[in-house]
Amino acid sequence: MDSYPRITPTLPEMIHRMKPDDICPRPAEPPPNADVTRPLATPITLTTVWQCGDPEETDKLLGSESGAYVYSRDRNPNADMLAERCRELHGAERATVTTNGMAAMSLALVSQCAAGDHVLVSNRLYGKSIVLLAGEAKRLGISCTLVDICDLKATAAAMQKQTKLLVVETISNPTLRVADIRALADIAHSGGAKLLVDNTFASPVICRPLELGADLVLESITKIMNGHSDVLLGLLCGGNAVWQRVYSACSAWGFIASPFECWLAERGIGTLHLRIERASSNALAAAKFLSEQKKVAEVWYPGLSSHPEHELSKRQFSTLFGAMVAFTLRGSTNDGGTAAAVQFIKAAKRIPFCPSLGELCTTLSHPESTSHRLMSQPDRAALDIHGGTIRLSVGAESPEFVIAALEEGLAGIA
Ligand code: PLP
Repeated sequence: MDSYPRITPTLPEMIHRMKPDDICPRPAEPPPNADVTRPLATPITLTTVWQCGDPEETDKLLGSESGAYVYSRDRNPNADMLAERCRELHGAERATVTTNGMAAMSLALVSQCAAGDHVLVSNRLYGKSIVLLAGEAKRLGISCTLVDICDLKATAAAMQKQTKLLVVETISNPTLRVADIRALADIAHSGGAKLLVDNTFASPVICRPLELGADLVLESITKIMNGHSDVLLGLLCGGNAVWQRVYSACSAWGFIASPFECWLAERGIGTLHLRIERASSNALAAAKFLSEQKKVAEVWYPGLSSHPEHELSKRQFSTLFGAMVAFTLRGSTNDGGTAAAVQFIKAAKRIPFCPSLGELCTTLSHPESTSHRLMSQPDRAALDIHGGTIRLSVGAESPEFVIAALEEGLAGIA
């Protein structure tokens, strides 16, 4: 019998054996019968570390597949519960949640690639993803080529012997071009590479890229997955075949998400399908409304028959087309519409100007001055981004509210 209390001494035992100033820092006892019933809502487990018993048992826990928790940076229950929910949503074999969307992209990169490898990357990818894949990755000896993935021939031609990953977004920012995931998976696989799809603008309610042939899918949970503007988180999903290095890389690079954020996001995901249904029907109504306005030159929404990938979207997506709409205001040829965009943004007082997306309320962004501000004007124009281009992230308000808010914005343009 130990003379010092082991892991879970009873309270009377502790009080009997310990000095009062030793009691405070000791781990607390769970309340009696805590395990008899199960809470309906997910509890938060905010411990960094678990008690392990003796060294032999600890050695077994750390080295085995037992699934027991030891240290929260390796695994923690809230991250596991959120990952499991997301794994089911994507129909994936494996899933892990990370500190943010960029950490999920970094995890994909470092778990799948090494020095000497090459990544082929959509030139329409989120700007920071390009900074990571074309800039940071270069410092690790991984080369990168940018390509227009809407041009399948050009994409196939840009594959190299050393290409390990083809990286695309299901729906790109801001003009909502849609990737042909089946065709891109075939291109990647015939060159011996894997297809990684960033599904942030779609979410698994609208598109499940793994079912279309992708090997890895990532989400910025920060956006519509959580949907309440209060959490930064990312998700990486995939099959067993691509997962060998994912858990160890996640722990070693320190990407694992912490319990509180995961707990919040699990609440958010509880209403994901409801929010997406409302936001998508609002977005379709907004896109149709904008298409009829004289002050609007062009509208981009995959649910409109005028969208270049409308037929593809109908095949790849559920019945919904997402919460994002982009449009370009008519403007003078001198400024490409920037003055009209500024007038619209000032007049649309009910739509917050926020350079993010997927919030509960409708927000707007101006790519020329936010996400694409470091790009040259001709490069932006090649992607159909002009001074008068506005990106809407449509929220869960009533359709009447959204249309009235857009009308106010348009009325403000001289
Ligand atoms: N992917 C897309 C399409 C994004 O828009 C963003 C962020 O805006 C990210 C990834 C990165 O996600 P996070 O901000 O959670 O790191």
